[in-house]
Order: sequence, then C-alpha cells, then structure tokens
Amino acid sequence: MYAWQVTEPGPLENGPLTWAELPMPTPADDELLVHVTACGVCRTDLHVAEGDLPVHRRHVTPGHEVVGAVAATGSGVSGFSLGERVGVAWLRHTDGTCRFCRRGAENLCPASTYTGWDADGGYAEYVSVPAAFVYRLPEAIGDVDAAPLLCAGIIGYRALRRAALPDGGRLGLYGFGGSAHLCAQVALAQGARVHVMTRGVAARALALSLGAASAQGIEDSPPELLDSAITFAPVGSVVPVAMRALDRGGVLSIAGIHLTDTPPLEYERELFYEKEIRSVTANTRADGREFLTLAGQHHVRATTHRYPLSDAPRALADLKAGRFDGAAVLVNDLS
Ligand SMILES: [Zn+2]
Ligand SMILES: [Zn+2]
Repeated sequence: MYAWQVTEPGPLENGPLTWAELPMPTPADDELLVHVTACGVCRTDLHVAEGDLPVHRRHVTPGHEVVGAVAATGSGVSGFSLGERVGVAWLRHTDGTCRFCRRGAENLCPASTYTGWDADGGYAEYVSVPAAFVYRLPEAIGDVDAAPLLCAGIIGYRALRRAALPDGGRLGLYGFGGSAHLCAQVALAQGARVHVMTRGVAARALALSLGAASAQGIEDSPPELLDSAITFAPVGSVVPVAMRALDRGGVLSIAGIHLTDTPPLEYERELFYEKEIRSVTANTRADGREFLTLAGQHHVRATTHRYPLSDAPRALADLKAGRFDGAAVLVNDLS
C-alpha cells in the first residue's frame, strides 16, 4: 500500500513528507485494519510534519481524522463486521488503569498514545487501530463530510464543554477555521448567541451565514460581554484580548495543542471577578460519542476542500498559507 511518512521533520517548504510503498499493516489481536476512504487534514498534522511536536515515532504516517471500512479484524475483536464504516480519531489508546482513566478523564492519561504521532495514521490506504477507540459514524453524513468531525469537531466540542457556557449564553470564538465552524454549529443549535472574532474576511462571512450574531476582527471587542469564549488561534496574544471581552464569572477555554507564549495578564481587567482560563487536552471517548450524536441530530456540516491522497503536501501547504476556510480532506483515489 501507499502512505505518506514524515521522514525529515521540518519546514514544509523543505519537503518533510515522503510518499512510500509499504507493507500492508497487520492488525494486532485487539485491532481493526481499516481501508481508508477519507482523511481530514488537521493543523496538528502540520505540527508533526514541521517538527513543532517532538518525534514520537520515526517515519510516522500522519492523519487522525480517518473514515474507512473495516478490512480485517484482530483475533480478539468482536462486534465489528467486515465492510462496516468506522471513524478513527486522535486518541488512539489509554491504559485504562491510572487515576485519571479511573475517574473518567482518560484524556489526561499519562500513558495515552495518539494516531498519526505515536502510531501510523490515515495519510495512507490502510491503517491499523485499536478497536476499542474507533467510533460509529452518523449514517446521514458521508465519508468526506464526516472526516473533519473526528478531530476538529470532537476537540471543538470538548472546548465548548470546557467553556461552561450557560443555557442561552453568549459565546465568543477567536479564530474561525475547521474546529471553530463546527463548534459554532453545535453552540447555535443549543441556543447560544455566538460572536466570532477572526482575521479572515471570508471566515467572517461564513460565520454570519451559519447564524453568528456578529463577526469582527480578532482584536476587536464583540458587541456585548461574553459568558464564555474559546480561542482556536494558536496565538498567545489573543488570550488577554479574550479575557477583557469576558463578563464577570466568564470562562476562556484554549482549544489549541500549541500556543505561543501569552503576554502577562492585567489582574484587575483580565482576571478579577472570577474569570477563568482553561486549557483543553485531547478528549475522552465519551466526548467523541456525544459530539458525533449531536452532529447527526443537528446536521453539523464541515465546509470541505477535497484533495487526492497523493496530494497531501499541497493540502498541508494550503492549510499553512490559510488558502481555504473550513477543512481539507484527503480522498483515497488509489484503492
Ligand atoms: Zn490512564
Ligand atoms: Zn487534529
């Protein structure tokens, strides 16, 4: 089979990815072999390719928004049939025994491993993954549309839960790419008033077309104080801006896995009155299942841009340059 491998992590311009012919993966006893039909392109893949994240597996195949069909099952797996559609996401495995796993916080498991970082992911024709960590997908959503839900969607949903938005509350979104535009749809369906702050002019138009109450520049103040905010921009300078936009008791949730340093906060204006800052670390399987159910119920849809699997570096370059709004999806055009 063919797959992309990160052979020389570094700037995309230097070609960190290599297109390689590899042996078909063999599923372990607890794994499924999945024939990939579509794989979303996440900013984390860019961080893996460019070496912003340390190398966890040499020559890893990136990709953790994988939709495909079960092609083989390990000897210890039950409950899956050949050809059944499944989704594979970022959280690949946890130990299930540590004090975090035992209290339902498996996203904090120190022994957790991740698809497309610790083990090969979906920029490939086939991928082998632990069966206990795959998702069933809402039937109404096609493969390409479902792919971005698996990381951008689930992480956005985790960030929304961490933001503790009160019923009918005011939510501010800073940055409006793949994750934010899915999160906005869930928040709107649940009755929130959503204000979007982003640099992209096209992204502002998309936000308004989805039902946002307002859209403005990333440094601008929303037209009303916010109960909750989420920053999707990997830029620390947004944090004080968002904290000033929060009303008393407001919560800012930081959705990125990577954030540049934040400037010092001014206590009186940016933190007092019980404002809170919370980070978001991956997600639990419960978050994933909950979000996918809501996505099916509320017709949450990603704005997608298709690329053939063999064109993955171009998709990553377009993501890096901000040449599209929404989400890029690789389509397996080989098998
Ligand atoms: Zn654990
Ligand atoms: Zn991701």
